Amino acid sequence: MFFLRNNGNAATMKVGLMGGTFDPIHMGHLVTAEEARQQFDLDYVIFVPTGSPPHKEMVKISLPEHRYLMTSLAVMSNPYFFVSTVEINAEGPTYTIDTVRHFSGSEKEGPEVLFITGADAILEIFSWKDYEELLRLCTFIAVSRPGYSLDRFRETLDRACPDMVNKVHLLEIPALAVSSTYIRERVALGKTIKYLTPEPVEQYIKKHGLYLSG
Ligand code: NAP
Repeated sequence: MFFLRNNGNAATMKVGLMGGTFDPIHMGHLVTAEEARQQFDLDYVIFVPTGSPPHKEMVKISLPEHRYLMTSLAVMSNPYFFVSTVEINAEGPTYTIDTVRHFSGSEKEGPEVLFITGADAILEIFSWKDYEELLRLCTFIAVSRPGYSLDRFRETLDRACPDMVNKVHLLEIPALAVSSTYIRERVALGKTIKYLTPEPVEQYIKKHGLYLSG
């Protein structure tokens, strides 16, 4: 379904995979995806809400179906944005390597894949399953908020794995000052979240009483 443009030739396509918990998705995520699409000349951006991330077993997160539906509502008006159920439908823990394998197909015929996510998450990549293969299969776009030290990020990366430096692009997004945590906290305090997330997502949160207990 994602490979119908470009004369249907998947091998020449560039696809951004936007990985995250999206609890909830917000304007910062959408601005990030659109900026990445333009800067890196991506044909599509596919949002991939996490299923059961192994590193979050002890953390309370909303049901996958809520996160999937909110993400779908948020991307509705952008013809370049899609949402994938590949992680939320998976049984057991989900790993980025399996997601990237799913989208890159056989290495010669599949699209070029760029994995977009938070810079903090990418600094932990050495603990991810099969990270060496992951680095071979895709390029990373590490996204940061204003005030985040990109120099420190580069130093940490360089020290841990100099080869990786060419596989990671850094993208600072001012609109990412908004965070999912900030939105959840505001809902719990009864404060407005208007304009922090698209209106259909705001309505969805209200209708299902999400985040009321913090
Ligand atoms: P997270 O802890 O929810 O997020 C870490 C930070 O990055 C937060 O500040 C978050 O802000 C931000 N962020 C998350 N996704 C973003 C995105 N797409 N664009 C911009 N900023 C983003 O991290 P996570 O969601 O659990 O993990 C991120 C991705 O890494 C997921 O796709 C996950 O599956 C993958 N991952 C894989 C493994 C593995 O394969 N073993 C291990 C860890 C993570 P907000 O809270 O505002 O979103």
